[in-house]
Amino acid sequence: MTRVAPSPDNLVSVDLTAIAANLRALRALLPPKVGVAGVVKADAYGHGMVPVARRLKAAGAETLAVALPGEGVLLRRAGIEGPILVLMGLAPGQAPLAVAHDLSPFLAAWEDFAALSQAAQDAGTQATCHLKVDTGMSRLGVEADQALDLLERAAALPGLKIQGLASHLATSGVPGDPTAQKQAEIFSSLLGEARRRGHALTESSLEASGGVMAPPPAAPEPPGLARLGISLYGGLPAPESQGAAPLKGAMRFTSRLMAVRRVPAGAGVSYGHIWKAPRDTWLGVVAAGYSDGYPRSASNRAQVLIRGQAAPLRGRVCMNAIMVDLTGFAPLPAPGEEVVLLGRSGEREITADQLGEWAGTISYEITCSLGAANRRRHRS
Ligand SMILES: *Cc1c(COP(=O)(O)O)cnc(C)c1O
Repeated sequence: MTRVAPSPDNLVSVDLTAIAANLRALRALLPPKVGVAGVVKADAYGHGMVPVARRLKAAGAETLAVALPGEGVLLRRAGIEGPILVLMGLAPGQAPLAVAHDLSPFLAAWEDFAALSQAAQDAGTQATCHLKVDTGMSRLGVEADQALDLLERAAALPGLKIQGLASHLATSGVPGDPTAQKQAEIFSSLLGEARRRGHALTESSLEASGGVMAPPPAAPEPPGLARLGISLYGGLPAPESQGAAPLKGAMRFTSRLMAVRRVPAGAGVSYGHIWKAPRDTWLGVVAAGYSDGYPRSASNRAQVLIRGQAAPLRGRVCMNAIMVDLTGFAPLPAPGEEVVLLGRSGEREITADQLGEWAGTISYEITCSLGAANRRRHRS
């Protein structure tokens, strides 16, 4: 969803080859026979849902996952086949939509299973779904002590195939984290009991990027799928996951210098004058601001790269501009020169995690915001 007229100076470039390489690197961390659900919700974290989904399928991802049924419909309209998980489940009345497009929602309430069963029967087909259990995230999912009872009742409904048990870790990405371990134990014991009762649940899934990059101790009941999002795009689920896999950032965000100007010692820069030049200073005015998805909270903290050299932000991020300090550049950059706000420039790189840290947020939010606001080009 780009703006009416996105700035021609600003460009998000997405490296689909990096995403495929990340998939390979992450698969090496998975036990054999565990498939990958490539998570492409939120327009593939800003990277472009349809091109990313196509590339993930081509690179061997067994399954795709979206947050909302509407996202799944867009994938089907683009001709994408194979299983599509709908992680946030269905809103009331959406069961027929899920059936019509062969989407597999995560469900946690009896009424939702009943509605999906009814929609499948009405359409003369069979619907697939997953039973979502809350093992400690306190977001979506039936409480663990009611999960098996709901599973038995839902599994008896006509026109419905429950393919997996699903849960989500609250504290993933930190090796040895006791909360993740507790959740994994609850999940594994439920899955074991369900399987003893004859439910195969072959597509069960617990781990997202964090759980794969910092796995809880081996659980006796192996899930069938890992749901990978941020790591496919080269971001870390937590700083502690650094180094667990050789990931490449897939998004680059570039802008241009609109102006280069010299300000005298003592001059205040940008709104509120939160930065004042300690000496006569060359500043570059970059043609990107918070309306382009660049975080205002990175004001006076972040850096950009010009010709592989870092230039620190000075003062507040504006709606369509930021000011950067060109001290130490020789020769001085000229208006029109490329500025890298995210990604590689020469030998240096600003990662989404780094920009997220400067902005007091996470890589996930950075790529979502930049991808949503700008012109985007895909490289494969
Ligand atoms: C978004 C999401 C994922 C992917 O998480 P990452 O940390 O990006 O790998 C997996 N499962 C669920 C339920 C999600 O909502």
